[in-house]
Amino acid sequence: MVHNFNAGPSILPKVVFEEASQAVLNYNNTGLSILEIGHRTSLFQDVMDEARALVRELMKLDDDREVLFLHGGATTQFMQLPMNLLDDKETAAYTDTGVWSTKAIKEAKLFGKVETVCSSKETNFNYIPKDFAVPNDAKYLHITTNNTIYGTQWQTIPHTSNSLVADMSSDVFSRVLDFNAFDLIYAGAQKNMGPAGVNLVVVNKNILGKVKRNIPTILDYRNHIKEGSMLNTPPVFAVYVCMLTLRWLKANGGIAAIEKLNNEKAAALYAAIDESTLFTGTANINDRSKMNVCFVMNDPSLEETFLNFTKENQIVGIKGHRLVGGFRASLYNALPLSSVEVLVQLMKAFTKKYA
Ligand SMILES: *Cc1c(COP(=O)(O)O)cnc(C)c1O
Repeated sequence: MVHNFNAGPSILPKVVFEEASQAVLNYNNTGLSILEIGHRTSLFQDVMDEARALVRELMKLDDDREVLFLHGGATTQFMQLPMNLLDDKETAAYTDTGVWSTKAIKEAKLFGKVETVCSSKETNFNYIPKDFAVPNDAKYLHITTNNTIYGTQWQTIPHTSNSLVADMSSDVFSRVLDFNAFDLIYAGAQKNMGPAGVNLVVVNKNILGKVKRNIPTILDYRNHIKEGSMLNTPPVFAVYVCMLTLRWLKANGGIAAIEKLNNEKAAALYAAIDESTLFTGTANINDRSKMNVCFVMNDPSLEETFLNFTKENQIVGIKGHRLVGGFRASLYNALPLSSVEVLVQLMKAFTKKYA
């Protein structure tokens, strides 16, 4: 058995792959593949409706929140969000907690003024800034709830009188939050929800329609809401697999239950890092991510040996991002605790041999 710690695209539940492969061959005994049915048929309409309803149910969303599955990755939202929410002369506040935040800032500047209210760039984004002020007139405050590359995560969501928007690509559905505290949430699917090629957008419909610019039809959230997230052909297979993953999540007790498991997985791995004299975590302890665990070896010349040792033992995807180096183990919802236990045992065995 392979233990998949990939950062994204990443592990999904095995039952989801089994059901999805069956649906490619013969969807619900229709004799047709999920890939060859019209998106306007009731067969697919039911999939889209169920996917949207599951998001609403799992996140406990208020009635004024709209759930959309849109084309493009989270990167598309870096642009689409300010295009819909920020006028030329207005200011938006952004927190700069990693490369993804930096990219979001760059795109927002195409549409209005941006104030970067805090940044942890000077220490290679190894912490979440705590003291910062948001201008009263800022149209919104943008945060990246989990910083996939650096392994940091906002443990508490900042209180603000401004409208709050978030990139939740790498920790969506992993922990209980007051999702109604956000006016807009977006997430690329391929970290915790489904295949690449679709992103989830949850938006408070009351904040839309306030900017003066003309928005291209396909980029205006209001058009997608009006058309029930079917303005044009949606990425049908990606939406279908997301729906299966959300069904799996609900059947396993929902977000609160998965959060408990995610906490156990992260606690076990961080304990192994902290107990060993060979390894050091790279993120500030109070800001450690429960999704992406980043660590290095105190003696970098041992890193290749450890990587090969884990590879021989069926561990996949723990090489760190080039901007941080070392190792990154991603512990997304579908990763079982048993895979973390295998990695922990390998770290212990390696420490015994080399420390
Ligand atoms: C992966 C990731 C992105 C980029 O997603 P794409 O779907 O490739 O555009 C953006 N933000 C965060 C936090 C991510 O983890």
